[in-house]
Amino acid sequence: MDRRQLLIGGLATPLAANAATRALAEGSSGYYIGDMHYHLFFFGKNPAPSNPLRRMMARGNATLVSWSLVGDVPWLKLAKGGFTQKGLPKNAKEPVTWFDEELARIKKHLDDQKLKVVRTAGDVDLAVKGEPHVVLSVEGATFADGDLAPLAAGYEQGIRHIQLVHYIQNPIGDFQTSKPRHQGLTKFGEDVIAECNRLGILIDLAHCTNDAVMRALELSKAPMVWSHSSVTRQRKPTWTMPIWQARQLSLEGAKAIAAKGGVVGLWAMRTDVGRSIEAYADRMTELADWLGEDHVAFGTDLNALANPVVTSYADLQRVVTHWHRTNVPPARIRKLAIENYAGVLRKAFAARTA
Ligand SMILES: [Zn+2]
Repeated sequence: MDRRQLLIGGLATPLAANAATRALAEGSSGYYIGDMHYHLFFFGKNPAPSNPLRRMMARGNATLVSWSLVGDVPWLKLAKGGFTQKGLPKNAKEPVTWFDEELARIKKHLDDQKLKVVRTAGDVDLAVKGEPHVVLSVEGATFADGDLAPLAAGYEQGIRHIQLVHYIQNPIGDFQTSKPRHQGLTKFGEDVIAECNRLGILIDLAHCTNDAVMRALELSKAPMVWSHSSVTRQRKPTWTMPIWQARQLSLEGAKAIAAKGGVVGLWAMRTDVGRSIEAYADRMTELADWLGEDHVAFGTDLNALANPVVTSYADLQRVVTHWHRTNVPPARIRKLAIENYAGVLRKAFAARTA
């Protein structure tokens, strides 16, 4: 640990919550960072207890971070270039048990760190103004295994952002890395969309097949996100491609999400986005040119990528610095850095009719 890290570690306490002080101390840009897709696990390399989230966020002035609970961890295995299914839940209870246990671990970590959870639009406003908040989210709604009730229970526990599918078969719809079985969403998947709208939960289409995305766009009453991966103009992604290519979104799909007010996040996968922070930053602004600057956000997928080009929120401050140097207007920087994710969360919350 060098002197600078010591200094930051010392400042990253609740007593030193003044964001401006932090920004100066850390040499960051003064812009706040939002991330639509972040992971922290309680196993493996860099587990949560030794990798505290508050310090991670403070080092890059990240104040609106979606901590994505991976809903299908017990049924995944590592495959070439990503994950694949190793089995399926034996009954509907297993995924709910996993979800409850993991959420309890996450909440304990947040309590220990004195980090606040986003529950209302007011909380989103505070995060945009510099008060660190975490958005509780789920990647792969496996915990709603044929039953809508866990969604409302999840909302009560603070879940505000749900990604429909991930790497294992579920009753909601098709995902990008496996042969489609439902031509998009199932009837239950359609009910999940309606229930998330009713509750005011942001719907995340990442990992969905194109058919599932299109059906969700027809149904949802609120704008949605594609939290992480990238957009390709050359390929038409299909499940037979290498995982990172299968996981890309077509330009047409991305534009359709944007046309409904949604936001697309760029992950930090080096194979895809390039070998430098600058390359990642340029891919972000290129995406903003393609989709409009109101429709792009960070979606790092940190701690779930094998070889990420962005490894910390301090790196996202370097992205912002690069934008500054290359004369990206401040209003555009703010949108990409945090405001677009904040805006789409507010719209999902406003759709609540429950
Ligand atoms: Zn993912």
